[in-house]
Amino acid sequence: MKYEVVIGLETHAELDTESKLFCGCSTKFGSEPNTQTCPVCLGLPGVLPVMNKKAFEYSLKVAVALSCEINKFTNFDRKSYYYPDLPKNYQTSQNYFNIGNNGYVDIVVAGKEKKINIHNVHLEEEAGKLVHPETSGANYSLVDFNRAGVPLLEIVTQPDMRSVEEVESYMQTLRNTLLYIGVSDCKMEEGSLRFEASISLREHGSGVFGNRVEIKNLNSMKAVSKVITYEISRQGELLDKGEDVLMETRLWDDVDLVSRRMRSKEESHDYRYFPEPDLVPFQVEQKWIDETKAAIPELPVNRRLRFVNELSVSDYDAGILTEDKLLADYFEECVKISQDFEKELSNWIINDILRVLNEQKINIQDFVISPEMLVELVKIKPTIGNSIAKDVFAEMINTGKSASAIVKEKDLVRMDDTSELDEIVIKVIEENRQAAEDYGQGKKNALAFLIGQTMKITKGKANPKILTKLFKQRLSASPE
Ligand SMILES: [Zn+2]
Repeated sequence: MKYEVVIGLETHAELDTESKLFCGCSTKFGSEPNTQTCPVCLGLPGVLPVMNKKAFEYSLKVAVALSCEINKFTNFDRKSYYYPDLPKNYQTSQNYFNIGNNGYVDIVVAGKEKKINIHNVHLEEEAGKLVHPETSGANYSLVDFNRAGVPLLEIVTQPDMRSVEEVESYMQTLRNTLLYIGVSDCKMEEGSLRFEASISLREHGSGVFGNRVEIKNLNSMKAVSKVITYEISRQGELLDKGEDVLMETRLWDDVDLVSRRMRSKEESHDYRYFPEPDLVPFQVEQKWIDETKAAIPELPVNRRLRFVNELSVSDYDAGILTEDKLLADYFEECVKISQDFEKELSNWIINDILRVLNEQKINIQDFVISPEMLVELVKIKPTIGNSIAKDVFAEMINTGKSASAIVKEKDLVRMDDTSELDEIVIKVIEENRQAAEDYGQGKKNALAFLIGQTMKITKGKANPKILTKLFKQRLSASPE
């Protein structure tokens, strides 16, 4: 492709506080419309907002986790615009003094690290939600103000991303970070996490930015990826024809898979920002910043690197393990019990445990096999073999019993005794003369058949390596 894409992303994350940003109303999702409102979040005349300290703490946590410079002096501003879901005619937001500026996120794409710079992190209130009835002939819309006033954190990047893969890695990393520090549930299906993308093209090697298009209200990471791919081809075609890409705001249609013009830059709003007079500006003391910094847990990107460097896990596997904090905790718990099986433990978790968690639709903390139990299974695996170990694993899930108890109960210890196995091998060859002859004539499948017969007799307990060796010895020794 002769063009390079330039992408910046705004992320809107609803903070997971019990009450709204400026009043005591509940933020619980899914309640009856307009049951979680009061004069403050409805913007009735004469009310005064009071800031939710928790929401500010959470915002500070994010700004610190994203390595931002923290503004010691912060206040809110009124962003004036009219929309039916915004009863006050303005949104209380931050324009002049954000919580944090100039941070960054390290992402990993195809094993390579890249720094994505964060322009700013600021706090604002959610608007309400318009509900358009699907009843045929309905010529009205309804407004639900339950969401109005829920604390919303906006995280704005610099236009640093150059591919869909980089954007995907950034979104994933940011989401993990928010989940790790526990400030948002990041449920995209409930709108807790939304994105806006600005996308432009320029010729490779050019230092000048092309005209950019902004895409609003993207409710899933998939939609972000799709719209970027779509815009790359749409804008590329325009440029190929010598036409201009218009600076405009567009909306993504997830049904028809196209973006559509919403408004041009000329029609764009003048928000007439001014400092919110009803809220006092406030100071963030250095002590508070230091305490917040100290309380930030190890973030997924660092944990991933540590897993690779210290625990001999591949980068790909480390990425899966650290995507979910509790899963990563589970793995570390296993490794703490026994350092000898790191690779094998991570294989069990990624291949077997994750599959069961998906099937049962549960999280790792509700999983019946504890780290101690998994480590024990891995430790006795050499005595029972791989395929029996899988059966024992399934049995552990069904019964909650330990691996050693199941192995003992069902007498599953593998047969490694060569002379004992040799007797069985002789018997199997005698009973399957045809297969033995076939093998002698170069039919390799015959060996698998003979081993299969032996496994049946030994109920899968025969050591397959020893068996193979014995059969080869016996069959080459037997007269043709
Ligand atoms: Zn309220």
